[in-house]
Amino acid sequence: MNNNEIISELENIVGEQFVSDRPEITYLYHYDFITAEPEGKCDAAIIPGSAEEVQEIVKIANKYKVPLVPWVSGINFGSIATPRRGGIVVDLRRLNRVLEVNEDDMYAVVEGGITWADIQGYLEKNHPNLRAGITWSPPGTGVIPSCLCYGMFDLGMIGGSGAEFINGLEVVLGSGELIRAGSCSLSNYWYGRQPLPDLAGLFIGWEGTTGIVTKASIKLWPKLPFREDFTGIALKIDDGFPTLLKLSKAGLGICDILAINFAWAQSSQELNEKDIVLDAIEAKMPDFISLITTQAYTEKQHEAQCEAIKNICKEGRIRLLSASEGAEAINPPPMQFWGCWNFSRGGGGQWIGSYCSTRDVVKYYNISREICLKYGKPPQFYSRLMFGGHYVVARSNVNFNKNDPDDIKTARKILKEIHDKVQKLDGVVMYKPPLWAVKFYKDKTLPSTTELINKIKKVLDPNNIMNPGQGIGED
Ligand SMILES: Cc1cc2nc3c(=O)[nH]c(=O)nc-3n(C[C@H](O)[C@H](O)[C@H](O)COP(=O)(O)OP(=O)(O)OC[C@H]3O[C@@H](n4cnc5c(N)ncnc54)[C@H](O)[C@@H]3O)c2cc1C
Repeated sequence: MNNNEIISELENIVGEQFVSDRPEITYLYHYDFITAEPEGKCDAAIIPGSAEEVQEIVKIANKYKVPLVPWVSGINFGSIATPRRGGIVVDLRRLNRVLEVNEDDMYAVVEGGITWADIQGYLEKNHPNLRAGITWSPPGTGVIPSCLCYGMFDLGMIGGSGAEFINGLEVVLGSGELIRAGSCSLSNYWYGRQPLPDLAGLFIGWEGTTGIVTKASIKLWPKLPFREDFTGIALKIDDGFPTLLKLSKAGLGICDILAINFAWAQSSQELNEKDIVLDAIEAKMPDFISLITTQAYTEKQHEAQCEAIKNICKEGRIRLLSASEGAEAINPPPMQFWGCWNFSRGGGGQWIGSYCSTRDVVKYYNISREICLKYGKPPQFYSRLMFGGHYVVARSNVNFNKNDPDDIKTARKILKEIHDKVQKLDGVVMYKPPLWAVKFYKDKTLPSTTELINKIKKVLDPNNIMNPGQGIGED
């Protein structure tokens, strides 16, 4: 990249203070600080303040055929915002405004770089009766990337994955044009993806390789006056999970059901890896911990829902503690998972994040547990029931010491082995896939599916400048 000429053109767009190729700045964008993937190379970083500026930046990148990587915090856990082929990282964090909240249709129109802290703070202050579904990622991470990458929120049981929270998008395509998708393309309302062909799909699941979302409408939900957070405990996931599936289909005002295992609970604490219990089942510790949140409009409805939840859990041998009765529920999100980058453990973490059939989730856990233990790693597992129990998320995390190449190698080996083995369950598909998994899916899908993806990519990003090297849509 011929820096001087490009930098001066970029400065003309955003002003000197918002573009830099100085190493102490670009260093911050080279890689995902958690996953310790091989570093990428950020040649320059730019922080635009409007959609028009984003459009101008895309035009310059096309003129010089320089890669552009959309970026909010870059700690997505999968290195999908790592500039693998160099170029310019477009840090979107100045695009952090809530532009409109429509209380009647329950949505917020936000800019493409808004963070969870921004949206949560804004709603609490200005619209306390409404809330967004939010992740357990740190408050400074991005809302729109999470929606675009099929993230999972604490309202997943009623809203589905992050992609299903998207009502509409405004996007600067890789070719430089600005388009709108959803009802907002025909009216001033952003209430849904109707009625034209659903163009939002051209940007969902693409990891920023087709365009830069500058505005989005995301669904909000009412905060109901009655709420209970239950913590359910059982000895094994095999015992507890069938009960969660039953609860998900019982229509009990449940907005979130998740399950973690003992190792994952330990990971969220400031514990040194050498002090933790490696195999909870062998140590006869409860290896199944679930969080169940229910809400209701009236007290009577609430009591009935809570009673039914308690009965179903009792039948399923889940011991239930409730926050209102003094049980220390796991903090509501967003929360800091300091354990994931715990410096005493070397701060590294990587994961296999999969969507999964409800039929396969217990099998997924047992496979991943066996593989982790084989390598002497605690088998961290996390699952969320989605969209009224239509599917689940199943996820294995492995922590490692970023200063220890052997430890990194082992973590990658474990995740790859889990991936390869759980694929045989068929109902398991990975999201935010690392490069080797993208390759795997290209080999697995019908060739004409891959060809169609490649053709779409060429139309939207003819010079292949958008986040190149991530593999999606590239021959
Ligand atoms: C401890 C921890 C816990 C987490 N827990 C969760 C969780 O519970 N649920 C969950 O869903 N995620 C979780 N995450 C993952 C992730 O951090 C979040 O999903 C986050 O909201 C995504 O924002 P980001 O800033 O990390 O995205 P980035 O890494 O900046 O971007 C992710 C991808 O989106 C692209 N992109 C970014 N902005 C745009 C845009 N405007 N237009 C087009 N493409 C764009 C990027 O190029 C990249 O490919 C967690 C991460 C950590 C570190």
